Amino acid sequence: MKMRSPGLFAFLMCAAAAGAAPAPVSNSTAVIGHALTSPQLADDLRRLTDEVGGRVSGTPAMARAVDWAMGAFQGAGVSAHTESYTMPLTWSEGATRLEMLDGAQFPVALVAEGWSTPTPPGGIEAELLHVGNGTEADFARAGKQARGAILLVDSTVIQSWDDLDKEYDRAMPIKQRAVAVGARAVLWMAGRERRLLYRHTDTVDGELSPLPMATVAREDAMRLARASDARSAPLHVRLTMPNIVGGAAQERNVIGEILGREHPEQTVILGAHLDSWELGTGALDNGCNAALVIAAARAIQASGLRPRRTIRFVLFSGEEEGFQGSRAYVTQHRAELDQLRAMVAVDSGVGRITGFSLSGRSDVLEPLREVLGPLGPFDAAQLSLSGSLGTDNVDFMLEGVPTLVADQEAGNYMQNYHASSDTYDKVDLHQLAQNAAFVAAAVYEIADRAEPLGTRLSRADIARLLDSTGLAGEMKVTGLWKAWAAGQRGRAP
Ligand SMILES: [Zn+2]
Repeated sequence: MKMRSPGLFAFLMCAAAAGAAPAPVSNSTAVIGHALTSPQLADDLRRLTDEVGGRVSGTPAMARAVDWAMGAFQGAGVSAHTESYTMPLTWSEGATRLEMLDGAQFPVALVAEGWSTPTPPGGIEAELLHVGNGTEADFARAGKQARGAILLVDSTVIQSWDDLDKEYDRAMPIKQRAVAVGARAVLWMAGRERRLLYRHTDTVDGELSPLPMATVAREDAMRLARASDARSAPLHVRLTMPNIVGGAAQERNVIGEILGREHPEQTVILGAHLDSWELGTGALDNGCNAALVIAAARAIQASGLRPRRTIRFVLFSGEEEGFQGSRAYVTQHRAELDQLRAMVAVDSGVGRITGFSLSGRSDVLEPLREVLGPLGPFDAAQLSLSGSLGTDNVDFMLEGVPTLVADQEAGNYMQNYHASSDTYDKVDLHQLAQNAAFVAAAVYEIADRAEPLGTRLSRADIARLLDSTGLAGEMKVTGLWKAWAAGQRGRAP
């Protein structure tokens, strides 16, 4: 059942008359009140999306986003600073084009995959070969024809979180097959209809893809696939994708902080990524939740309450390129990780928060149930042990820190994810305020709990957990495993 604000206000009024109320009342009632009533959230988000716009890490727009975050924390009365790290390279798209050299000519809409290797000067002229879904069997069927060709791979329309996971999980194996057969480039049929384009990427370390890759508008890709399938003579195309690749660059995370009253050296992190792709303005992914993190900081600050432990409000950069900002945070703060009690991440748009995924941390279940008990009216207490490899929690999880990734209803996320349509108007501001109130209260309660939520795991325990949750297998598929196994990411033995 969807919890709307009248219920929450009733909850607040009940809390105000706490003396008479037998029901448990959260210490963080004042936090909730501030979060639900602040007009600043919408204005923060409008300025980030409309005025800063899309903000790819390593670009001037990202630097403006960092300024926005510093200003917003300051406006909330919360002290904040930035922390720098080095990205291996910067990337932006040039004038991507696909021309048909024979057969029917028509304009093809396409965009480079993020962090795709560019084509050589003058582009690539080759046969366009439709390889169905790009399975082993499809590649076997294509045989020698795939060598030297530009491959076109089908997709299904993305309608659910599952569909989105599948789109990511299949990319790496297809890429490996394409490289193995000596293909020259890969074109992905867009998983959205009505010629909507979106920026996809599969980099897990900020390095370029092994081949030039682009996403082609679904209807155009289907027409090309039909042409490739129907012709007895091969269909030749020229792919020009002069992506601009720069050298190593400094990027920044922004960290706001409210000091703990009892154990200031112990911390709880509330994190969201501030960076985005730039076809749209990064509203659902993840501007709304960057604004939510600041709203949470503002509400706690304004409540006058001080939690037992320190809360750090971290806006990460480099998330879209393999969690580079959160990876840098973990590296830079490794000496303090024993004192980091929990990391909460919000990165799934503006759908109602239903609970948290704990990436196998069953030890955290009971303590978290206790924390969330008084927040019952938010109806956000569904806890799952499933693993989460999709956002900035990953490097914290690999360090043995308990991580909580907010689970959210899909809402309008799938239609707009990474797409040119991901703009301010897609954000349900009413729901965003409720999510902000819930997260602010939950994080406050976690930081204020007498006992820590859970302990930090040893490397051996983390390895067991990766196996039991199936995360190990998934990390192998997406390419994260190598760095973990080599000791480049995650807790040292
Ligand atoms: Zn995101």
